[in-house]
Amino acid sequence: MSFTYIKAPDTIPHWIDGKPVEATGDAHKPVFDPALGEVARQVGLASEADVNAAVASAARAQVAWGEMAAQRRARVMFRMKALVERHSKDLARLITREHGKTLPDAQGEVQRGLEVIEFACGIPQLLKGQYSDNVGGGIANWSQRHPLGVTAGITPFNFPFMVPMWMAPVAIACGNAFILKPSERDPSPSLLTAELFQDAGLPDGIFNVVQGDKRAVDTLLAHPDVQAVSFVGSTPIARYIYETAAHHGKRAQALGGAKNHMVVMPDADLDQAADALIGAAYGSAGERCMAISVAVAVGHIADELIDKIQTRAAALTINDGEAEGADMGPIVTAEAKARIEGYIDTGVKEGATLVMDGRGLTVPGREHGFFTGATLFDQVKPGMKIYEEEIFGPVLCVVRVDTFAEAVALINDHAFGNGVACYTRDGRTAQEFANRIHIGMVGINVPIPVPMAWHSFGGWKASLFGDHHAYGEEGVRFYTRYKSIMQRWPDSGSKGPEFVMPVN
Ligand code: NAD
Repeated sequence: MSFTYIKAPDTIPHWIDGKPVEATGDAHKPVFDPALGEVARQVGLASEADVNAAVASAARAQVAWGEMAAQRRARVMFRMKALVERHSKDLARLITREHGKTLPDAQGEVQRGLEVIEFACGIPQLLKGQYSDNVGGGIANWSQRHPLGVTAGITPFNFPFMVPMWMAPVAIACGNAFILKPSERDPSPSLLTAELFQDAGLPDGIFNVVQGDKRAVDTLLAHPDVQAVSFVGSTPIARYIYETAAHHGKRAQALGGAKNHMVVMPDADLDQAADALIGAAYGSAGERCMAISVAVAVGHIADELIDKIQTRAAALTINDGEAEGADMGPIVTAEAKARIEGYIDTGVKEGATLVMDGRGLTVPGREHGFFTGATLFDQVKPGMKIYEEEIFGPVLCVVRVDTFAEAVALINDHAFGNGVACYTRDGRTAQEFANRIHIGMVGINVPIPVPMAWHSFGGWKASLFGDHHAYGEEGVRFYTRYKSIMQRWPDSGSKGPEFVMPVN
């Protein structure tokens, strides 16, 4: 099959009941090509009626899908895996043109999304219950996991393929229908994803896409037929989603923002640590929830570490994400660039030392693009806005501390708890760090410790609201209801009614 949405259309529609559907009403938003700094297309924003149509289609389709043998659902995922592999470059290109990240980085994103599809191929094994024979009186007790029905996912701009894949393959393989509300800033990959699912044999209505903003989200949150909501995005919206979903009696997992630290111990290999910091701070222009935005230099190494970061950051190639050799692309929108550069102004006013200033960068040939260069602050202290708040751009803050204990206390006191890394050559330090740190995802000499598809992704503190992390076995639990069954086939002849709590 040839796919229409390998090329983004002028107006991005929804995908409902197996076909593209134009938004009713005339609410639209511009979608930019951030490297060119131009409006590339429009996205139609869902009305309540559009969302209701998607939920109705999903509810209709889910009944038969939920009753289908898990192995047959898994076969759709096997075909989806092959299709995503075949079209990974097409997906990557759509991502680069609307998000701005470099093409190899976008392909990395597609690969990490693909890995969750691979995980979902094993759904028969994952849905296996537990069985206890003869728990007393000839009774067997076992557990089953049932799909919830219609589920929804609301996703951020920074991973327009990978984050939807943290949710949809697991939800769908568990027997649910899934409605995706992608970011309105880079909506195109959602449509190619929908076409690929259809070609993989997924019944119409099991994967629907509604484009939109708060109106679409609020309609999903209040809809009585939506059983569960997964969210990934900024912390204020994550908190709102969690509270509103709970108010309407729904399950919710809401992953929020981050301020990820990397501790560099005095015994670390400083070249390795500086290389890791450069990639983790400036890759994808810092627009990753697992980006390192704070380097914690422990002891006497701070000056040397900063020198090494500066030398490397000065050599970065910043360009259109499709340009050969680009290390870093533009910021997603002009507003996001203005917000990031506003934080740099604030950092200067707060008294941090601006070692490298990325404000006002112009890229030859892409003069209107939304570029901000690599920025480095030294002498950053707790209490400063640039330390406490998520900047979500290519800005790295260095905090100097004297001891390992101070580094741990600093990180544990921070409001966010998504990811963290520690660079050291000492096993005992590494072990203590992993045990004492109040953060959901920890890297020891690994700068961006995004868990593999069969583990689960999620932070602590203000980085996650809800009980379950995303994908992996936590995802299977989130998207299924647990049922315990006790069964006895009595001998002929009754013992009469029993009035006391059954015990062995
Ligand atoms: P965002 O919170 O602005 O938007 C996320 C989603 O929520 C979008 O689909 C958007 O349309 C919707 N939304 C925005 N405002 C809303 C409102 N008032 N009511 C209802 N829905 C609303 O986030 P973003 O700017 O797209 O993405 C960047 C943020 O996402 C960063 O904070 C980043 O740390 C976070 N993020 C977190 C993770 C994680 O796993 N913890 C992963 C990726 C991104």
